[in-house]
Amino acid sequence: MMDLLSALQQNPWLFISLTALVSLIVGSFLNVLIYRLPIMMEREWQAEFSEYFQTAASAKPLATFNLAVPRSACPSCHTPIAAYDNIPLLSWLVLKGRCRHCQAPISVRYPAVELLTAVLSAVIAWQYGPTLITAMLLFLTWGLVALSFIDIDKMLLPDQLTLPLLWLVLIFSLSDAAFVSPAEAILGAAAGYLSLWVVYWAFKLLTGKEGMGYGDFKLLAIFGALLGWQQLPLIILLSSLVGAIIGATLLTIQGKDKATPIPFGPYIAAAGWIAMLFGEAITAVYLGYLGL
Ligand SMILES: [Zn+2]
Repeated sequence: MMDLLSALQQNPWLFISLTALVSLIVGSFLNVLIYRLPIMMEREWQAEFSEYFQTAASAKPLATFNLAVPRSACPSCHTPIAAYDNIPLLSWLVLKGRCRHCQAPISVRYPAVELLTAVLSAVIAWQYGPTLITAMLLFLTWGLVALSFIDIDKMLLPDQLTLPLLWLVLIFSLSDAAFVSPAEAILGAAAGYLSLWVVYWAFKLLTGKEGMGYGDFKLLAIFGALLGWQQLPLIILLSSLVGAIIGATLLTIQGKDKATPIPFGPYIAAAGWIAMLFGEAITAVYLGYLGL
């Protein structure tokens, strides 16, 4: 065990490659989570609703559906996907993006999520090496990937993901490796939540519309807890910038109506992730630019 750790410490590229490889497999699991968690939540709400109002719907029991059951199958021909066709990235390339049985196209998003997870994880491994901070940031990054795509699909940032990540970051602040002290982490979490909460209510009172959801506040609270409140303005600025660029691009490509709600979660996640890795460098460049 110690041999492995020292080998990894001496060979940064070995550690980066191993992290990327493991993260490809994690990315494959994230695809399952992204697709199934919202369905599991909807079924739970349905069951609670039926129980509370004692509607007839509660009479018929539903087949088991969780992260492991039923097995992954082709959505077109329902043939279960064999293990050798479920290798991250490679299987999609070998099958040229089509089901082995019915040739129905398989979305490019599956390998894209796997690749994205691997690349983001490799960047963390490269920046922080085999340390506790890398382990924490990897978990956080994987959670952010899942949250972003669930938000894109369903306009939803499930508490089942945001709250554990918030606890993780708050507990991590107790460690010597943390970016900020526990006191700063608690303040940062509250500041992250409240800053968007205020924007939300101001926007709602002025326009009668909802610009974002409570999940967005919790997501920003995670970054406030990780980096301290000082990084929050940068994250909000970056997310608005990324949002404006992507929004304008989508509008041009798809000709989407301006009223189409765009989830804000992925922008906060992307901006927070950039601030988490490069926040100090960005601030330094910015202050240097101002001549400070
Ligand atoms: Zn098929």
